[in-house]
Amino acid sequence: MQAKWDNSYAALPSQMFTRQAPVPVAAPKGLMLNSDHAEELGIIFGEDWPVFLAGNQIPLGADPIAQAYAGHQFGHWNPQLGDGRAVLLGEVLGPLGRFDVQLKGAGRTAWSRNGDGRAWYGPVLREYMISEAMHALGIPTTRALAAVSTGETILREQGPLPGAVICRTASSHIRVGTFQYFAARDDKQALDALLQHAKKRHYPEAQTAERFLSAAVTAQARLIAQWMGVGFIHGVMNTDNSHVGGITIDYGPCAFMDDFVPMKTFSSIDRQGRYAYGNQPNLAAWNMAQLATALLPLTEDRDASIIRFTEIVQSFGDIFDREYSAIFSRKIGLPSDQETDALIDGLLKMMADIGADFTLCFRALAMGNLHAHLGAHPDFADWHARWQAAGPAQAELAQVNAAIIPRNHLIEAMIADAVAGDLRLFHALHGALKTPFSHCENPRFATPPSPQEIVTKTFCGT
Ligand code: AMP
Ligand code: MG
Repeated sequence: MQAKWDNSYAALPSQMFTRQAPVPVAAPKGLMLNSDHAEELGIIFGEDWPVFLAGNQIPLGADPIAQAYAGHQFGHWNPQLGDGRAVLLGEVLGPLGRFDVQLKGAGRTAWSRNGDGRAWYGPVLREYMISEAMHALGIPTTRALAAVSTGETILREQGPLPGAVICRTASSHIRVGTFQYFAARDDKQALDALLQHAKKRHYPEAQTAERFLSAAVTAQARLIAQWMGVGFIHGVMNTDNSHVGGITIDYGPCAFMDDFVPMKTFSSIDRQGRYAYGNQPNLAAWNMAQLATALLPLTEDRDASIIRFTEIVQSFGDIFDREYSAIFSRKIGLPSDQETDALIDGLLKMMADIGADFTLCFRALAMGNLHAHLGAHPDFADWHARWQAAGPAQAELAQVNAAIIPRNHLIEAMIADAVAGDLRLFHALHGALKTPFSHCENPRFATPPSPQEIVTKTFCGT
């Protein structure tokens, strides 16, 4: 494995991480390698790549660490989380710029608490599939570089399961919770070093903590609007899973909606629906308030900063509304204005009333057969006439309304097959999801689940 390593996080104050080599696994076997992504990262792999990406051998130039972070989990403060099952091998410089290369499922670290530091096929293949699908949909996200099977069996509630490691890459792994960790310890040295580092990597133009906060709020509002546009529900938007660079991170019990339910929740642990589809903007704003609080120790005039930071956090709503309106306006092919907003609301209301499939309805709008999905609704004829009269750019709709998404039931079927040693469904679905806006030849991938196939709950799965 050859790459240009430049490990800038590992050069930060030592309390920000622990030095940690991945724990070797019994029998590394490559499951999949994302060669296109390797190329854009400037990484050259040989035949022996699984040995490196399972963590059995450390690439020359890497400097593995486990990062410290804290977080609010479902609103409850947890002062110490950290990389309990992940090791950051280091940062590579390549055509895409500076990228973190991380192994998830790499064994116990100083932050593992009672966990085994491992992962099984389920969460690894899930994250691989969904993060790459998000990327193909044009949504900022961590990426999947490879998955390796460990040859080890790990124990979970379901019983013994085959172990795996995912190699994921990202523009950084800096979370709101990373800032919180040092703010809570009143460690200004680390907090300032983190801010300088995060600015360089995400918002080089932001001179001050205030500008940084403002850029992070804008990026986060955009990201959540993009999630909403594809019916994505993250499921665990805890502050430790909220990235300051506005990218999607930590795919746990996340899911794409089939039928449109505005307050849809899938995660088995989200009993109150805190992270329901329609709550995502509110909770992302809440997370940004935590980031603002964590940045306060770095400001000179605390009282004045509290006022300014509050305004910035409050601007989340307006930025989100603008982005949401822009995204859904494009989805129905009209310029973003009040009349379009009313049409968007009307369409979503019909979909919710009927329980119509979110993805299929927007795709059908592009294909000119929305009546097949919503024709039974009493408001449909009037809505359709108003939409037509507004002069939609129908020819462009297929480029913004996906034909396929990684539906839950397919993900679950793919995992069951993979555990049984059959990766065909993984490869077929992954292949189709590379071009989500093209017509999908496989009807199984482009249709909602049958009643027996519906998945109602998803699990954190580690
Ligand atoms: P999550 O919200 O699932 O991203 O993880 C929350 C925290 O639990 C993080 O600090 C993880 O490192 C830790 N964690 C999750 N699974 C494991 C595991 N199998 N072993 C050790 N730590 C884990
Ligand atoms: Mg996490």
